[in-house]
Amino acid sequence: KHFASRIDSLDRQINSFITKDFDNALKHAELADKLRAEGDARPLLGVPMAHKDNLCTKGVLTSAGSKILSNFVSPYDATVVENVANAGFISLGKLNMDEFAMGSDNESSYFGAVHNPWDTARVPGGSSGGSAAAVASGFVPVATGSDTGGSIRQPASFCGITGIKPTYGRVSRYGMIAYASSLDQAGTFGKSALDCAYLLSPMTGHDPKDATSINRPTEDYVADILATDTDGKPLAGKKIGVAKAYFGAGLDNEVEKSIRTALAKYEELGAQIVEVDITDPAVTLATYYLLAPAEASSNLSRYDGVLFGYRCENPKDLHDLYTRSRSEGFGTEVQRRIIMGTYALSAGYFDAYYTKAQKVRRLIVDDFKKAFEKCDIIASPTAPTVAYKLGESLDPASIYLLDVYTIGVNLAGLPALSHPVGQANGLPVGLQLIGKHWAESELLKTAHIYQ
Ligand code: GLN
Repeated sequence: KHFASRIDSLDRQINSFITKDFDNALKHAELADKLRAEGDARPLLGVPMAHKDNLCTKGVLTSAGSKILSNFVSPYDATVVENVANAGFISLGKLNMDEFAMGSDNESSYFGAVHNPWDTARVPGGSSGGSAAAVASGFVPVATGSDTGGSIRQPASFCGITGIKPTYGRVSRYGMIAYASSLDQAGTFGKSALDCAYLLSPMTGHDPKDATSINRPTEDYVADILATDTDGKPLAGKKIGVAKAYFGAGLDNEVEKSIRTALAKYEELGAQIVEVDITDPAVTLATYYLLAPAEASSNLSRYDGVLFGYRCENPKDLHDLYTRSRSEGFGTEVQRRIIMGTYALSAGYFDAYYTKAQKVRRLIVDDFKKAFEKCDIIASPTAPTVAYKLGESLDPASIYLLDVYTIGVNLAGLPALSHPVGQANGLPVGLQLIGKHWAESELLKTAHIYQ
């Protein structure tokens, strides 16, 4: 009731919720009280949370921030949604996002922009802007998000909270509306690494319904964190890699200062800072913006106005039905990506663009592997800037540049988190920690030690 009334009175200024599901949530809360009284010992029973609106929730609108799905009530739950409910969490509703998770500022949502709670004239970051803003506003203690190229870490950075994207395959993608399937991964937001861990642990695990879900024992990140000794020099013996390429042109001076101060604090905690080489971020950016739209153009071909979702009025014939449903149902950025992706996959250009980008992707993976021979974790700024003003109408290419530090992680399938390290010009700055495959626990413990 506390959270529901807080959302009711304050979300008008933030616009983080697309759907409020309070009646259901309150019913579940009563049930949780009853179960608790009967001896149900699940530690997370009754804890409120909310889901990004690209995770399918049975009987509840699942829009992915798009007009084309603005009437889509999912007939089933995503595995993540099911897992989290089984742990006892109660969903308060569905959170705003950039349309189909394409974007870095949450301005491309059909349901309107989300406002940053630190300064409501600014963007919260994206695409999981609603999730980050809701947690930062105290609307929910934790929330889910998805990260294809930085959509958990960058909004966590802009909103001054912690967010983690797990290793590709750690969390099931079944029931998560696909953007770029080889990069998409769900993860969590919380005020701290510990809070992120509470929600992440039950989300993970093998799912036969997702062929890319890995069959590997789950871990209890919360127990790992709580067993961590934080006194003295807890990071002694750990090497944190820093790459020059992550501090190049485009990085805001004040942001850089906060990051350098945070790295000094990591040294005080016992870590050794070592220099590593990673792929030139400009190359990574170009690779991502070929592969992600290519996969998106294929994934989004299912929205044709026939089986589900938005359908145009009075179609003349089948071709008109397809064309107008898609033209009216998809927003500008989504159409741009479909066109770019279709171009990269077209017969005459496939080898020059798509195949070439796949080869570069392999080199990016190899470069990370080499860097991790020298260190345990790589640290960098999460984003080159702090949250900018809403409606600043950056051109698409400048917005893509904001992803420069986060997208390599997705191309390599690595886990990474962003945690707050201070402020630049009064706005939050996040530091990114990148781990080796399956190093979620180590990342969360390291951030916890810092926090
Ligand atoms: N900003 C990136 C994009 O638009 C990443 C989005 C995401 O991680 N979902 O593709």
